[in-house]
Amino acid sequence: MSILKVARIGHPVLRGTAKPVPKDVLRDPAFQKLVENMRETMYEYEGVGLAGPQVHESWRVAVIEVPAADDRSRDEVPFTVLVNPVVTPLVEERESGWEGCLSIPDLRGVVPRLTRIKLEALDRHGRPYSLEAEGFFARVIQHECDHLDGNVYLDRMSDMRSLTFIKEFEDHVHRDEE
Ligand SMILES: [Zn+2]
Repeated sequence: MSILKVARIGHPVLRGTAKPVPKDVLRDPAFQKLVENMRETMYEYEGVGLAGPQVHESWRVAVIEVPAADDRSRDEVPFTVLVNPVVTPLVEERESGWEGCLSIPDLRGVVPRLTRIKLEALDRHGRPYSLEAEGFFARVIQHECDHLDGNVYLDRMSDMRSLTFIKEFEDHVHRDEE
């Protein structure tokens, strides 16, 4: 396995529309290797999700894994592979929450996201599944699926003034919330 190079904002691959993964690509061992490498890359950079375009692979594939938070502020999500995902809103309500992105290093910003969604996707072997997600998991799914259409969280922020570097977030924002 290897750690992949992460594309940073400004690289055109992050602004393109990723291609649906066809069946023959799903069956190719190279695709399974890509999924494993994306998993390793997500762990290496301590992300909770990573999309194909972020590793210069313009396929509609993303991986997500959310470790349990010490303070139980977010639910644990086991390692999940999303191939050709489709997101359907289950509510109109949006909730504001902090997001960061491995392609936009060192920054955090407040982003409104739908609080409950339905996800339909294929797993890494091409088997269809669907699930309903809420809270932080729903947020991560929306963030990763945005990458497949060339969008990043900055595009979704309703007020750019919350944008902060991680150090300043920890010095000023995180401290205020405790
Ligand atoms: Zn991202």
